[in-house]
Amino acid sequence: MNDAVLDPQDTGPSKGLATISLLSSDERLKGRPKLCSDCGLCDSTLKGRMSSACIFVRNQTAEIEQRLHGRARRPDDERRFGIHRTQYAARMRRPNPQAQWSGIVTSLGARLLEQGRVEAVITTGAAPGTRFKSEPVLARTPAEVLATAGNKPCLSPNLRLLDQVREQGIKRLAFIGTSCQVHMLRAVEAELGLEKLYVIGIPCSDNVTYPDLEYFLTQVSRSPQTIVHYEFMQDFSLWMRHEDGHKERVNYIDFPMDKLHGIFPSSCLSCFDYPNTLCDLTVGYMGAELGWQWVLARTEIGEELFELIRPDLEIGELTSSGDRTRGMPHYIARLTQPPGAKKPPFLVRKLVAYMQRKKGSKGLEFARAIIEMKLLRNLNYVRSKFPRFEARVVPEHVYQTLEPYADTYREVFGRPLASQTEE
Ligand SMILES: Cc1cc2nc3c(=O)[nH]c(=O)nc-3n(C[C@H](O)[C@H](O)[C@H](O)COP(=O)(O)OP(=O)(O)OC[C@H]3O[C@@H](n4cnc5c(N)ncnc54)[C@H](O)[C@@H]3O)c2cc1C
Repeated sequence: MNDAVLDPQDTGPSKGLATISLLSSDERLKGRPKLCSDCGLCDSTLKGRMSSACIFVRNQTAEIEQRLHGRARRPDDERRFGIHRTQYAARMRRPNPQAQWSGIVTSLGARLLEQGRVEAVITTGAAPGTRFKSEPVLARTPAEVLATAGNKPCLSPNLRLLDQVREQGIKRLAFIGTSCQVHMLRAVEAELGLEKLYVIGIPCSDNVTYPDLEYFLTQVSRSPQTIVHYEFMQDFSLWMRHEDGHKERVNYIDFPMDKLHGIFPSSCLSCFDYPNTLCDLTVGYMGAELGWQWVLARTEIGEELFELIRPDLEIGELTSSGDRTRGMPHYIARLTQPPGAKKPPFLVRKLVAYMQRKKGSKGLEFARAIIEMKLLRNLNYVRSKFPRFEARVVPEHVYQTLEPYADTYREVFGRPLASQTEE
């Protein structure tokens, strides 16, 4: 982490209840669409393709899926998880201690280079002197990919490196990135002149700018400067590991939401692709039990990628327990409250956290629950802040996935869940 003074009293970049967090306040981002996740496309010579490629201008998930798979999503878990051929609980037999989880993603990137299947890997490193500030890296050696292990949990303009790919004459490329980046990449893929493209996706939700990330850590940790690793875990709490090895844990219900809600960019709150459905292989954790990673091979290339790393993997079991549909009506009702609404008393919060851990959804059901919650929250966000964008940025599978909650939605919000164009 850099040397900036992190004062827990600082009200920081959080922008308050009614303000929309827009990145266009940054000089570099002038002229971008109103919703921008700083994917990097506009920093490249492909900038002219922004309006036809950007997920926040027009979500093309259904068309891209048709191209990749020759079909639409089935009316089952594919609506939430995206089209996939196989899914696994897995982890590296010899985990990389620098990795976010066990290091499947960077090991795969390194393997592709070792075997000469690609000439370069676009990945995300840390800016010099920082632990968590993202810096796009065009890695040409296995060691360069391995050096990017671990999350830099802030927006990263990885697609800006497409110019270097062209300039260096790279024809076989692997790309590691978030779902917005992958959407833009797929939209321009045919124009890149590549012979082979491997797309490894990480699930992503509620990303932030780097200053907001630093601010977030001051609000949730007793020692924000010494955090070396953190993750939002499947047990409804945030785990933070510090330089001296000690772990700090904060339950989600204890987050000071009144001070945090302004930090999330409007693009991330208008995103409907948490599981990174347009990549070849998604490597996350949220559908697996604690300690395991969740891997979905979506395409033939995704299966090739999985087979490439399989000898190094321990394969576990995917499980599913709990019932997300019971909690969803409460969640929908809570969406009507301002984010700054008063927190329940300490003992109530302790009980809720205990019950979430004990009785809450686990495994695949946990993934279904949080994906649906984010779809609902973000649909509501678009409807309240950018209503004119709804028809362009909300894909049809969102309404289909949330259909079981349509009655509750109508009761709570006094309007139908279905898209405006259908009404
Ligand atoms: C902001 C963010 C939110 C996430 N939220 C979830 C979630 O809710 N549920 C879930 O299942 N998984 C989530 N993930 C993915 C998860 O935390 C792990 O990154 C993933 O499981 C891979 O772990 P690994 O040990 O295999 O990766 P490693 O081998 O440690 O490699 C990590 C890879 O992540 C890439 N990376 C790091 N930071 C960024 C960034 N800012 N933008 C693009 N790429 C980056 C690096 O290039 C590197 O290749 C999130 C990741 C990020 C960056």
